[in-house]
This record gives sequence, structure tokens and C-alpha cells, in this order.
Amino acid sequence: MESCIFCEIINGKREASIVHDDDRVLAFMDIFPINPGHTLVIPKVHCAELTGLDPDIGAQIFKVAMRVEQAIRQSGIPCAGTNLYLANGSIAGQEVFHLHLHVIPRLVGDGSGFRFGSVNRSHPPRQALNEFAAKIKTRL
Ligand code: 5GP
Ligand code: ZN
Repeated sequence: MESCIFCEIINGKREASIVHDDDRVLAFMDIFPINPGHTLVIPKVHCAELTGLDPDIGAQIFKVAMRVEQAIRQSGIPCAGTNLYLANGSIAGQEVFHLHLHVIPRLVGDGSGFRFGSVNRSHPPRQALNEFAAKIKTRL
């Protein structure tokens, strides 16, 4: 495996400001925060994307992110809302290929935002929605 900056953090070879550490998951401050308190939650096992991640570890990542989110709100760090955000693959904006869930405090007028697709999103007919649902359901 090529060198991975998040594995280096896990192994103590790269400095990080850690907020949570258990046997499966690590959470630490993003080095280029969108807002103060921006935290990354990662699996300790190297995994580039969601595919291949043990679902139990995925559940632990989300549990830790929920706890971090509450802790940010109670910490005194300005936080009017939060985004939990995971970029899965380069086309989705992923830049570090060790899976990570962002916990991002949001502030009124912070100028950040997520924009998906065109402004004029379509409103497909029910039949089309049902067909997509059926395709996904057969794979669950
Ligand atoms: P992505 O775009 O892959 O979803 O997010 C990668 C995140 O990792 C970015 O928010 C970036 O600021 C953060 N990051 C990149 N390098 C480092 C680093 O060395 N240490 C920490 N703590 N965060 C990093
Ligand atoms: Zn890694």
C-alpha cells in the first residue's frame, strides 16, 4: 500500500489533535477546517472507500460522529448546525483515500454549502421512483 496520511496519524507518525480513540475508530481535528471544530472520524483499519468496510466499523464511525457532534454543540465552539459528510470516490470530492466522515459545525452566513446537481432538480413520476427503488431493493 502507498503511504497514507491518515494511517500515519493512527500509527503516531504524523501529528494530530485527537478527540476520540478506541480499538476501531479515531477522531481528530481537520487540519484545514471549514469552521472551528471540524472533526474527521476514521476507521483504524485502512479502507479507501465505503466498499469493503466492515459494516460494524461503519456503525461505530457513525456512533462516534454522533457523539462528537453533540460534544461540539456543548463545547462552546460556535455551532448553529452541522453537516456530516462523507466523500466516497474522487468524483464525489474525496481527496484523502482513507475513508473519513466529516463532522462540520455550521455557522450562520459562513458561506459554505453543498450543492448537488442542477438547481432545477427533476421531480420524476412515481413509476420511475418505484423502478429505482425496486432495482436497489433486489440488491439489499
Ligand atoms: P476529503 O476531501 O477527502 O473528503 O477530505 C479530506 C480532509 O482531510 C480535508 O478536509 C483536509 O483538510 C483534511 N486533511 C488533509 N491532510 C490532513 C492532515 O495531514 N491532517 C489532518 N488532520 N487533516 C488533513
Ligand atoms: Zn490509511
